[in-house]
Amino acid sequence: MTDDLLEDAIVRFEEALPHAQLSEDAHERLRSPVSSLKVSVPVRMDDGRLRIFPGYRVRYDDTRGPAKGGIRFHPGVTAAEVTTLAFWMTFKTALMDLPFGGGKGGVAVDPKQLSASELERLSRGYLAAIADVIGPDVDIPAPDVATNELVMGWMAHEYAKINRGHHPSVVTGKPLALGGIPGRSSATSDGAFHVIRTVQSRVLPDIDHPSVAIQGFGNAGSQLATRLAEAGWRVVGVSDSSAAIHDAGGLDVAALREHKKATGSLADPPVGEEIAAEDLLCLEVDVLIPAALEGAIDGSNAERVRARTIFEVANGPLTADADRILDDAGVQIVPDILVNAGGVTVSWFEWIANRTGDRWDEATVRERLERRMVTETDAVVALADARDLPLRTAAYVHAIERLSRSMDATGTASLFGDLDG
Ligand code: NAD
Repeated sequence: MTDDLLEDAIVRFEEALPHAQLSEDAHERLRSPVSSLKVSVPVRMDDGRLRIFPGYRVRYDDTRGPAKGGIRFHPGVTAAEVTTLAFWMTFKTALMDLPFGGGKGGVAVDPKQLSASELERLSRGYLAAIADVIGPDVDIPAPDVATNELVMGWMAHEYAKINRGHHPSVVTGKPLALGGIPGRSSATSDGAFHVIRTVQSRVLPDIDHPSVAIQGFGNAGSQLATRLAEAGWRVVGVSDSSAAIHDAGGLDVAALREHKKATGSLADPPVGEEIAAEDLLCLEVDVLIPAALEGAIDGSNAERVRARTIFEVANGPLTADADRILDDAGVQIVPDILVNAGGVTVSWFEWIANRTGDRWDEATVRERLERRMVTETDAVVALADARDLPLRTAAYVHAIERLSRSMDATGTASLFGDLDG
């Protein structure tokens, strides 16, 4: 991942500016992160060797509350990638009207090459390395690609050891036994499902049982596949980093999830046929859901996409080039900062419960998640209609205007306004 990713993200933000009310101060502040930390994480491997892994934590903006964003373990993690992901989190939390800013973290590592105890030492070592720049009122990590509740539990425990006290709200996405909240592990897919249902009649009119292909069969993608199949959709293609599977008649999602759980990958599937990874993105489907990594669809393959609608579950799966090509082709794009916001929304519930010492039951989590997702989706659609904008631009405008109002309320812009007057 290169600096292009951040440039690309900023281009998209700036494309929304002519349609948004944003002060000059807020515009300037949103162009660079509040703080960026690079760390070297030493890990004693099982064979006795010491290895050093580069890690990052970026707080992009914290005007509306503590920074919030996941931690990714992946060989491709770079400072630019983490900064871009933190940038997107800033708009996502504002879009959802959460009392948070945007942050992100990551370690450049292939977790599949680590034993369980090496993974635990890496997780604790990374947390210790960033402990000074996170905190329940400062910056709050959560799971992202290849990190899960086990990793979050180790990190919360490490933070408690370093600070000699319990601060469970420093990390969300923890196991229930350590202050986690029911429904967090399915929150991203549940949230995406609510967005899809809310806009379905608009973007897929007259289709009772849409066909869908999903790239990425991890936490978000596999659970969303189940929800859509249960709702009567035809899941005709799924893929992970090792294989892509296709069946025009519809795949048995439960069998594929069972297979992935047992073997660790989709390779040699019990159902469907293996196809080339790239071909999955080009299937003739009603809906394409990229749910793996950023940049999956770019200027080189966008013209081959045959879907009518794309729901971005991954962060940044389309480049700005791809956006333009797909927009010209009439493909409807429902953007990441809305579609995948269920995870951070339920993380907010977990943070509240930890800070108040309360326990939330699953029914409460589900009901409040649905209400929040539907409310903000309706707001984005209304803004798109009122100002005649594509949904991505409308989502950015909605977030930008909230951010600008908060930034301006910190005083400086209005003070200069008064002085000028
Ligand atoms: P995960 O690690 O559980 O799953 C990622 C999946 O993508 C895996 O199945 C992996 O094999 C697959 N993959 C990787 N490279 C691929 C490729 N080139 N082609 C096909 N598949 C590939 O991660 P996740 O938590 O499901 O996150 C997926 C995306 O959703 C990421 O972009 C993440 O930032 C975003 N997201 C996740 C959450 C969350 O709460 N987990 C919240 C918001 C956004």
